[in-house]
Amino acid sequence: MLETIERALGAHRVLEPRGALPQAALRLDADPAIGPDEVRIAVERLNLDAASFRQLSESCGGDGEAVRAAVLEIVEARGKMQNPVTGSGGMLIGVVDAVGSGSPLGLTVGQRVATLVSLTLTPLRLTDGLTAWDGRSEQVPAAGTAILFARSIAAVLPDDLPDPVSLAVLDVCGAPAATARVVERTGARRVAVLGAAGKSGSLSLAAARAAGAADLVGLVRNDAEAAALGASGLADRVVVADATDPLAVAAAAGTPADVTVVCVDVPGAEHGAVLATAEGGTVVFFSMATSFSAAALGAEGMAADVTMLVGNGYTPGHAALALDLYRSNAGVRSLIDPRVEA
Ligand code: NAP
Repeated sequence: MLETIERALGAHRVLEPRGALPQAALRLDADPAIGPDEVRIAVERLNLDAASFRQLSESCGGDGEAVRAAVLEIVEARGKMQNPVTGSGGMLIGVVDAVGSGSPLGLTVGQRVATLVSLTLTPLRLTDGLTAWDGRSEQVPAAGTAILFARSIAAVLPDDLPDPVSLAVLDVCGAPAATARVVERTGARRVAVLGAAGKSGSLSLAAARAAGAADLVGLVRNDAEAAALGASGLADRVVVADATDPLAVAAAAGTPADVTVVCVDVPGAEHGAVLATAEGGTVVFFSMATSFSAAALGAEGMAADVTMLVGNGYTPGHAALALDLYRSNAGVRSLIDPRVEA
């Protein structure tokens, strides 16, 4: 039984340290030869998580060649794409090219799929030196192999949307699902989204509206984003502030929200998010740049009685919900499309 759970979670692929699960491992075995319960994907494109890409880009001074070299080095050293600074990864799309006889995932060879488990736990081998990528975008044309375990999840790519759009939407599909769930469970009326003009931010606003919230505040960082968010019609009020400046966030947001969703891709938004949230309210930290200690100790230091949720990347039905919000909402498309290379 234990061996079955170990294999289903991919523990047999962990090279270092012993006993860790793949997400926490320093190094995975990315051998493309699959076991009977595994699936191999021929990789076509990676989507680097926004916080990871921003960190890599900033640390390389915006030099695309250096970013590409850094990604290749990480994957070579770790057998997976996990940014050692942000700890985050992303996801990928590709074609199923081998299915073990005992795999329970229901995939068949030739299907085009998106992995819905993080690159931080996906054994990955790159074979093209990422030569088709200039190192300047979150999406990375790539060739190589990735391995799925028995407990992994993957979605068959929809044929009505361009791949880069599906990849971008599915990468952040946990955010609208988490937002909808919290709004439905708490009956929240007022929802604030920090980083509201981004991919997860725009989807979260649309999800909050669909779940019954009636007063939506979108916080963005500059006038250009404010104009774009205003034109999208997703928020009832658009405010401009630096999400990393807590007092500015509180002043801009005004009456505290029942639910605040943090969708920025930079560190330091924890205290502003807590201040923007009403007593008894909830903060959803979807951002991978969130610090647990800053959130927990900051809330304590402000004597703020708020529930703080880690934005779990998985909620049942999350992929279909996000794709449907994209398809059905022109405002969401107006904000996501310019961020996605066709
Ligand atoms: P995105 O499309 O780049 O959106 C981020 C938004 O935040 C952008 O509009 C950005 O503005 C804005 N922003 C950055 N710094 C800001 C500041 N100081 N004040 C106000 N706004 C600011 O990113 P995304 O793909 O939606 O990802 C958002 C976050 O979700 C990232 O941290 C990512 O790592 C995380 N994530 C989490 C999961 C999970 O499972 N929990 C999965 C995927 C992604 P500019 O564009 O002008 O910089």
